[in-house]
Amino acid sequence: MAVKYIPEPFRIKVVENIQILSKQERIQKIADAHYNVFNLNSEDVYIDLLTDSGTNAMSAQQWSGMMAGDEAYAGAKSYQKIVAAGQDIFGYQFIQPVHQGRAAEKVLLPLLLGPQKYAIANMFFDTTRAHVEIAGARAIDCVVKEAKNISLRAPFKGNMDVKLLEQTINQLGPQKIGLVVMTITNNSAGGQPVSMQNIRETASICQKYHLPLCMDAARFSENAYFIKKREPEFANKSIKAIVREMFSYADMFTMSAKKDAIVNIGGLIGIKNNPELITLIKERTIAFEGFISYGGLAGRDLEAIASGLYEGLGEAYLQYRVGQSEYLGAKLDEVNIAYQTPPGGHGLFIDAKSMFPHIPYFQFPAQALAIELYIEAGIRTCDVGSFMLGNDPDTNEQLQAHFEFTRLAIPRRVYTQAHLDVIVEALINIKNRSSSVKGYEIIWEPKVLRHFQAHLKPIK
Ligand SMILES: *Cc1c(COP(=O)(O)O)cnc(C)c1O
Repeated sequence: MAVKYIPEPFRIKVVENIQILSKQERIQKIADAHYNVFNLNSEDVYIDLLTDSGTNAMSAQQWSGMMAGDEAYAGAKSYQKIVAAGQDIFGYQFIQPVHQGRAAEKVLLPLLLGPQKYAIANMFFDTTRAHVEIAGARAIDCVVKEAKNISLRAPFKGNMDVKLLEQTINQLGPQKIGLVVMTITNNSAGGQPVSMQNIRETASICQKYHLPLCMDAARFSENAYFIKKREPEFANKSIKAIVREMFSYADMFTMSAKKDAIVNIGGLIGIKNNPELITLIKERTIAFEGFISYGGLAGRDLEAIASGLYEGLGEAYLQYRVGQSEYLGAKLDEVNIAYQTPPGGHGLFIDAKSMFPHIPYFQFPAQALAIELYIEAGIRTCDVGSFMLGNDPDTNEQLQAHFEFTRLAIPRRVYTQAHLDVIVEALINIKNRSSSVKGYEIIWEPKVLRHFQAHLKPIK
């Protein structure tokens, strides 16, 4: 099936030059980085697909908002603007800006979790899982089985397995569950969306057992776009109306604004209606982030987020945005390179297990592919597999991830069709020499979120 590239619904006003090093230099740079792509300098990277987080290109409207930012410590106009935007789009009473998504998690999660408690999600993102564990609790994933079958083209592979959710609640005892989290889109499952029907069913289980439901809402508008395209009930609804309904079923959200709000830094906490919780959130925000009217951000950042929240709802933008993943996916289909299908909202998750069947999970095949992509063409990506998952917090044993994905995250409004073609060519070249690629071992690692810092070396 020929997939046409959706032309950019914008024109380019500012450019940033990039360069490609020689292959010899790239081999040296990745060795100097201890085979960890997070240690590479960005100027040594040609196409940077490490993350779609904070790497977005802002619009002229957002940049002009930067000049309008009100930098008052308290009561700033820019704060009122972001609160109004949040209330209008999500329908929640309380909107708290924070400096990024994990700050929202740090402020909120310990208020609901502690030792002996559990949090259950469709699938936890790594920082969210880390904050559950830092709070002393344990994190359990209940994603639907279809998510684990990467060649299956199901429309909503990010869904919660609601039967498993209810079973898990009953097994552990509802009093032990502090929180249910719905990650939209489901990042770790490959940017796969969650259906409205699934959000409704999850919410009704939460109501039955009196458990709070929290959206981990980084990619809320991409999720809404998939609902519009794939859930017939919503074909004629606006993205804004779909977002409003999605959030109506939850009690609270944490959000990294560095994704669908199309900014470089920022996050939000939203609480539908819970005065005691709001009081505690304000206290912790002041202690960790700064006064409630700025939450660790400058007034100009609040302006950019307020605009970006609306720009992210634009249908032409979302069609182009998701279209980039679909274009990449179609090119990989032609050459039989496996990835989590259908393509995710924020990029492609390449199945490194099938690219390198000879590399076991504890030698990190997805990390090996990330390193090869850098050596092949200066492309930076990252492991979303066993290397990222880390060790069991109780036994310290290496855990085996459901997937060994190398994530090609696409920054918003940044790269063109020709860049995407370079990526496809690099993957084809690596596939042609895949049997000679070796795995890696860790020679040093920190205790939490190790993939950001660990040092590796190739297996001989
Ligand atoms: C990015 C992300 C976070 C963490 O947000 P940061 O802004 O990186 O701190 C949490 N959850 C999900 C689903 C994310 O994608």
